[in-house]
Amino acid sequence: MDVQSEPHNQLQDLNNATIQWLNDLTAQGIMTTDTALRICSWNHWLERHTGRRAAQVRGRKLLECYPELVTRGLDQSYQQALQGQVVVLAQRLHRYLLPMPSVLVDSRFVQMQQSARIAPLIANGQVIGTITLIEDVTEREAREQDLRRQIKALETLHSVGRAVLSLDLRECLQQLVEAATLLVQAPFGAVVLREEERLQVKGWHGRANVPLYTEADAVSLHSVVAEVARSGHPLWIPDLAMMPGLTPLDPESRSVLAVPLTVEQDVIGVLVLESPQPHAFQPADQQQVAMLVTQAAIGIRNAQLYREAQEAIQLRDTFLSLASHELKTPLTALLGYTHLFYKNAQQDSRFDEREQRALRVMVEQANRLNRIITLLLDLSRIQTGRLSIEQGSFDLSVLIQRLVDESQPLLVEHMVAIHTPNAPLIVAGDELRMEQVVQNLLQNAVKYSLPDTTIRIEVMQRDAYGCISITDEGIGIPEGSLPHVFDRFYRAPNVMLPYQHVRVGMGIGLYVVKEIVALHGGEVMVTSQEGVGSTFTVCIPLQREQSVPHVLLP
Ligand code: ADP
Repeated sequence: MDVQSEPHNQLQDLNNATIQWLNDLTAQGIMTTDTALRICSWNHWLERHTGRRAAQVRGRKLLECYPELVTRGLDQSYQQALQGQVVVLAQRLHRYLLPMPSVLVDSRFVQMQQSARIAPLIANGQVIGTITLIEDVTEREAREQDLRRQIKALETLHSVGRAVLSLDLRECLQQLVEAATLLVQAPFGAVVLREEERLQVKGWHGRANVPLYTEADAVSLHSVVAEVARSGHPLWIPDLAMMPGLTPLDPESRSVLAVPLTVEQDVIGVLVLESPQPHAFQPADQQQVAMLVTQAAIGIRNAQLYREAQEAIQLRDTFLSLASHELKTPLTALLGYTHLFYKNAQQDSRFDEREQRALRVMVEQANRLNRIITLLLDLSRIQTGRLSIEQGSFDLSVLIQRLVDESQPLLVEHMVAIHTPNAPLIVAGDELRMEQVVQNLLQNAVKYSLPDTTIRIEVMQRDAYGCISITDEGIGIPEGSLPHVFDRFYRAPNVMLPYQHVRVGMGIGLYVVKEIVALHGGEVMVTSQEGVGSTFTVCIPLQREQSVPHVLLP
């Protein structure tokens, strides 16, 4: 017996046994080739997954057994291995090396997803062939895909969440349908809203020439959308050929996923996703779309309510504008004649004191009505951008003095203290409009304070502005209301407190004041303390020559 050969044979046996073990038990594909890329070994795993027995392929050229390796350019990797390089083929790039059916029960993958490693086999420093290791990564890829999908779904939910906060209904619907089609990679999606018993397609994404119905009877139509609107349950139809009674929105669609938009058990619409491919949507898609829709439905409802409110406001404004225009003409005639009548009656002894007083009340009330209608007209002028001012110049102190004199009937119950500068304070602007501003502020000072309290009026210059401030000792304005008193229709809550005067109002006066002052390039400010009183200050630019001091040359 050769003493030398015994350990050698043992080693040989050990090697063979190891290779046999690898062939039979390993969970990887192992294949070796010689330098001519003839297959030398083909393990059990490969036999099982390719369906080719080792005996069938051994000795055959790899690229003849699998010609698609050449068409897919993967033969290059074998050339590199023969030159001594190790090549790693990532699944992300190639999906698979050798075609084998997927063993995973998941219709996403027809082929087993593989990562592969092709390395040179080296003996005595010479490349004598190649070895290929193939790993099945289908399950890992499926998990990663699901994870990527979930991340995308969360991102989409987040973006839709932001979009539905916008109160623009169209934007809201469009964002929803775009996000949903993207999320499940649907070639076509639409959002259909229920308006009374009608279903209206309000937004869609994808296939532009789809002959959609835009008006349909929710109750009688045999469509997927109508069915979901009726039942309030989602519908997932993998293949419409199985349900010939139901029609999709796009006549060419084969699979449909439709989810109801529900707000407090009320189905307000349907989100529908369609594809010309059967089985285009997965069960996970339904869940994700349902989440998206739950979030969006509330936003859509809010946007709908907001739009209805906007329409109501528009209607109100139109009504106010028309009504005030219609009232103005007869009122002007009424005012003129009442004034004339009152004036004549004052010199006529046939009218006793009671009748004179009645006539005075008539004049006062007609004046009041006139002021209210003027305010309403100004309001509609502001809304339509038609409020304008006549450019002129006038002395603020003179204006104040005249207004206080003319407003005597209004001010009889109060003490009035006026403080004006000695020199004229000429401002640039529209005297009539500024008169309206001061009258408004004076009326408020009277309205919101008790009789026998003092109203202080001060005229002053502040830098290049002429200012008037009106201070009362009235109910004041609560701190929280101060930023809103110049808003349209705003009235502070304390105007409703029990008080001996009836303080009726519409919350328009200060809004108009602010607009008029702004047109003058000026500003109106308020400081107030509840229960103590308020000061309103209006400043408008001085006339140019006055604000720029002349420099006299010596
Ligand atoms: P109105 O007086 O018709 O309600 P305004 O636009 O003139 O409308 O004023 C808006 C609100 O500002 C008033 O409802 C009141 O709450 C508050 N306000 C205005 N002027 C005064 C004031 N001098 N004193 C107290 N509150 C005032």
